Amino acid sequence: MTLSVIRQLPDELINQIAAGEVVERPSSVLKELIENSLDSGATQIEVTLKAGGLEEICVIDNGCGISALDLPLSVKRHATSKIRQASDLEAIGTFGFRGEALSSICSVSQVTITSRNQQDSMGYQMTLDEGVPQGSLRMLAAPVGTQVVVSHLFKNTPARRKFLRSSHTELSHCQKLIKEIALGNPTIRFTLRHENRILGTWVSTDRKGRFQDCLKLPVAPLMVLESREEMTLEAYLSPPEQAVARSELFLFINGRPVRHRPFMSAIRTAFTEAFGFGKEPIGACYLDLRKDWVDVNVHPQKWEVRCFNQESIYYWLLSSFRKHFAQTKQPPEKAHSPAQPIRSFVPSRPTFTFQPMPLSPPLPSTPFTFLFKNEDFLICQDSDGLIIAETPQLTLKAETRRLLNLWKQGQWPIEKVLTPKICRLSEKLRLVAEEQRTFLIRWGFENESFGDGDFSIRSRPSFIPESILEKVFVALVEKYKESEAPESVITWLLDFCRSYSPMELSCSVPLLLEELSKQLTGTDGTCTLPIHQIRKSNESQL
Ligand code: ADP
Ligand code: MG
Repeated sequence: MTLSVIRQLPDELINQIAAGEVVERPSSVLKELIENSLDSGATQIEVTLKAGGLEEICVIDNGCGISALDLPLSVKRHATSKIRQASDLEAIGTFGFRGEALSSICSVSQVTITSRNQQDSMGYQMTLDEGVPQGSLRMLAAPVGTQVVVSHLFKNTPARRKFLRSSHTELSHCQKLIKEIALGNPTIRFTLRHENRILGTWVSTDRKGRFQDCLKLPVAPLMVLESREEMTLEAYLSPPEQAVARSELFLFINGRPVRHRPFMSAIRTAFTEAFGFGKEPIGACYLDLRKDWVDVNVHPQKWEVRCFNQESIYYWLLSSFRKHFAQTKQPPEKAHSPAQPIRSFVPSRPTFTFQPMPLSPPLPSTPFTFLFKNEDFLICQDSDGLIIAETPQLTLKAETRRLLNLWKQGQWPIEKVLTPKICRLSEKLRLVAEEQRTFLIRWGFENESFGDGDFSIRSRPSFIPESILEKVFVALVEKYKESEAPESVITWLLDFCRSYSPMELSCSVPLLLEELSKQLTGTDGTCTLPIHQIRKSNESQL
């Protein structure tokens, strides 16, 4: 019998391996510590470095602190106060959530954590060397908040130490990192010291103020403010004359600094189109999205995120920047007019508007005279008395008939959407949608499957509001098949739109009268609407 060669690795080694992903250099330690401070609700964060962080990194915050009970847990692997269950991963609102930063840092350095929880009158201190606790917790006087001191980074991993640069270079990495985090969190006061020399202090301010403090442009920045449904963009960029060959362009998604190539390329593409090649703006772009649209669990150091709806966000960014840059190219007084304020973040309820009717036909020769119409009723008169129809029902019928005619004449109204919509289908529906692709395209839903259930929808029947396009698409795939009668598809589409948005009744009176006449005289079958006729004898006949 051969001996087993597979072994379960000891915890210390597991932590060191994990540290390889999280802790690359002093600035990556700094990132984790500052993010912990931000998550703790701190309003002030002080950073002190020795030898560019190679010798020592100290971060002090005035956040909620860590209790004596939690202190030993905080350095355990996969120990976190930020998530509890898998579903929490779907909408993460904190910088950390993996519960591995402190354990990783501890495993490759010497760490002392001093913390006082808001509820306690005293603080507690714990020291670990290469992850091993040095004695028990010490009680001591300390302000509320946390101080973490990391020294002798990579003391036990020479392979890693080899990749470190001079203290000067490591310091500049740390400075860049602090600048980036400070840009993303303008209300927090940051101080950076190196060897007891203050290198920078950023006081609490707003995004624009922090942009000026960090990037120090000699002129007012270009400001781009846009919002749509559940996305808000706020960007401050150097004007073209201040652009540089190599950009200092930062992107924050929900306050988190990220490297997101497609979104950055939207900014760069629009800038290059407007102002020429070879230059990029200096700037900070804040993109605030619904939390559950952003998957932050894709990169150990959390520099990357994956966005649901990525394609449509990309096109929205591109068109927003294009629009603003085009304005900038106009005469100066227009260029610097204040941008519009950010609109409410609450998704607006879509309004469903019928397409304008073709030129109003002359009043049809009907056997009755038009008297009155409002949102609820249309009233006519003939020699026998009054005819009352419900305007919404009649409008729906008239619109169905109009669309059916267009369909039969091969003139189904289709419009490209400005920003392709991305929607996700279940495996079962994906197969149906792929099978029914030509049917869907014929009805105006030009679509493309990405193979994993995601579909991009590039066009819509023009009477369907863009805001509900994904919903209509999914429901249509669920409900209809190739063989369906056009009239029922059209009625269903109109009904669906109406159920999502209040219908604006804009059918012209002649068209409504024509429809009423068709319904009453039964030119195409029996009357299907509740139409009331008040005869001179005062009887309701229908
Ligand atoms: P994560 O941030 O992913 O939760 P960490 O290893 O960075 O994991 O931290 C572990 C836990 O320690 C955190 O969840 C938090 O409860 C606590 N903690 C760490 N740093 C601080 C701090 N500066 N202030 C308050 N609590 C902290
Ligand atoms: Mg953390």
